[in-house]
Parts: sequence; structure tokens; C-alpha cells
Amino acid sequence: MSASLDRPLRLLLLSTSVGALGSGLGGGVELTLHNIAQALSLRGHSVKIVAPSGSVTPFPLVEIEGTLQPTAQNEGRTAAIAMPPNAVLANMWAYAYQVQAQFDMLVNFAYDWLPFYLTPFFDRPIAHLVSMGSLTDTMDTIIAQTIARFPDSIGVHSQAQADTFSFGTQCRVLGNGFDLSLYQFCPQPEPCLAWVGRLASEKGLEDAVAVAQIVQKPLKIWGVLQDKAYWQQIQQQYPTAPVTYEGFLPTEQLQSALGKCQALLMTPRWVEAFGNVAIEALACGVPVIAYHRGGPAEIVQDGKTGWLVEPGSISGLVDAIARLEEIDRYTCRRQAEAVYSLAAMGDRLEQWFAAIFNHADIPT
Ligand code: UDP
Repeated sequence: MSASLDRPLRLLLLSTSVGALGSGLGGGVELTLHNIAQALSLRGHSVKIVAPSGSVTPFPLVEIEGTLQPTAQNEGRTAAIAMPPNAVLANMWAYAYQVQAQFDMLVNFAYDWLPFYLTPFFDRPIAHLVSMGSLTDTMDTIIAQTIARFPDSIGVHSQAQADTFSFGTQCRVLGNGFDLSLYQFCPQPEPCLAWVGRLASEKGLEDAVAVAQIVQKPLKIWGVLQDKAYWQQIQQQYPTAPVTYEGFLPTEQLQSALGKCQALLMTPRWVEAFGNVAIEALACGVPVIAYHRGGPAEIVQDGKTGWLVEPGSISGLVDAIARLEEIDRYTCRRQAEAVYSLAAMGDRLEQWFAAIFNHADIPT
């Protein structure tokens, strides 16, 4: 059903509770939340963000004290729900409950059980933007219950991510949107490769390092050092690989450095829900060489804006690097502009919210 909004909304955006905004621990969710707040503000909606204390954002912010949530990535399918004492997640949603009357809608960015469980107890509708694919049975069950009771309330970033859930056909695929004016097009790269992401096992950095060792081309790595032992192990395994860890940079510096690279390598072990870094690279004119799976496989146009390689195939990555000359860097930038602008994302978000209001029978 198509629907549209007929007035500006007051929106309360509840961030992930695994890290403060700006820390990098929240992964792509941090930039996603920022970009969505910007896309909605540009449309005249008012946004307020609720996030763990220590967060940094230019938008109106309510900081909440409490213990951070553990990350869900590697807990195993049958993991029980973890809730530390004085959990910041619980405190954020207690705050939201108190102030909900001041808002038209709440938007949840946390991949955690509690916000889904609480949804029927709130007066205001809650839109859930799910940032990862299926990881645990408990999360699958509660999200399925939520979408059954509140149709259209679940947004995801890619079709591949939706397909990891049994209720995938009911999810709204939103992609993502970026302030492309922050990303400068770089026509002439230097002879080096890039890898960008949290240094954690699901991101598969070791395959990119293995390739750098084979092709003996410098590989620059940017991202939060989430798992130090994992990174040490990679360094021991590939002692002669020409790789450098360049730290975790704010967007402005990251795009400037990333833009100078010949290609971005994306070698995740898991079904990457989207892969913000793919768009950031394309926006700078950097082709993306990615495993043919998950979000990156829906973003990269094989042979046009990068190469898609059989997951786990080191030789496939090597071959793709040898064919980088065939990719036109302007085409990469143009793809980012056509599909992943803030304006395009703003359209998709407004349609999503309108559909939720439609179901909730609340006049917009
Ligand atoms: N990032 C950053 N600075 C860095 C490296 C990464 O700000 O030096 C950000 C990047 O902009 C992206 C996020 O880290 O938004 C990684 O998100 P992605 O969706 O690629 O993966 P996730 O961490 O969510 O699995």
C-alpha cells in the first residue's frame, strides 16, 4: 500500500547500546544513525537522539548512563539474552517510555531483544531498523513476533539481509543514504589498496591481508581495533604482507585517505547486512572488490563499479585486482549519487514511516 506523510514528524531515534556514538564500537550503525537524522532533518522533521553517555553528535542528544550491551555477532545461535546490571539499553528505553508523548514515532537502531519486546507496551509506534542479518534464535523469534503484530515496522538495509530471516519478504529494504558532499571524488589513485571495517573476525580481514602478501601491493587498514588478539594473529600469520594499520578516522579524514586507493577490498565471513564502507568508497570514485554475498553483492555492479568474487576465493581477489583498470572511477561516483544520496534515503524513510502510521491507524 502506498502512503505519504502530510506533516513534519517529531522523531525520537534510539541508538545502539553497544557503544557511544563516535566511538566506532557501534560499527556502521553510528554513521547510519547520523545520516538518517540528517536526511530526516532536511525534510523538515525534528529529530532527537538517545544514546549512551559520551556520545558525540551535532543533533539534539540525550545521553544515558549505564553499562554497555555486549555485541551480538559471535554469541552463537542459541545464546540467551544478556542484560548487564544497570544496562544502558534498559535505561534508554525507560527514558523513551517517559517522554514518548512528545514524539510521533520512535526509531530503534539497536539489534537487541528488549526494544522489540517492549513495542506493544508503548503508545507511540516504533520503527525498528535492523542492522544485521539473522544471528540468534531469540532475536529471530522476537522480530518475527513484532512484524506479525506490527506489519511494516521492520526495516533492513539489503534484500540479502532480509533473506536471512524467515519473515524476510515482509521487511522493508531501505538501503542507506550518505551526505555525498562530504566525499571528494579522487580521479587518480596511488598504488595501494584499502580495507575498512571493525577489526573483528566476522569482517574477514585475513583474506585481504593474504591477497596483499601475494600481489605485494600496500594495503591500508582503517577501523576500530575491536579484537586485538585477532589482529595480532593475522600479523603473525602474514609477516611479510605490506599492510599498515592506519587507525580509526573521522569521516572527513577517512574519505580523503580512502579516495587515494585503487580499490576497497571487502572480504567478510558473514552475510554483511549492507556495508556502509562500500558506498563511502564508491562516492570517492574507488572501485569495490567484494565477496559475492550479502549487501556488497547488491551494491557493487560487477565489472562496472568493481568486481564480485566467490566468497573465500583468494585467487578470485587476485584476478580482480589485476582487472581494476577496466573500472571507470567516475561510474563509481555516479552510482553512489544515483541510489545512495540523503535525498533518495529520505524518500524511502518517509514511505516507510507512512506505511507504519497506516497500519497503526494513527492520523499523520
Ligand atoms: N569507519 C570510520 N572510520 C574508520 C573506519 C570505519 O568512521 O577509520 C566507519 C565507516 O564509516 C562505517 C563503519 O565504520 O560507517 C563500518 O560500517 P560497515 O557498515 O561497513 O560495517 P559494520 O561495522 O557495521 O559491520
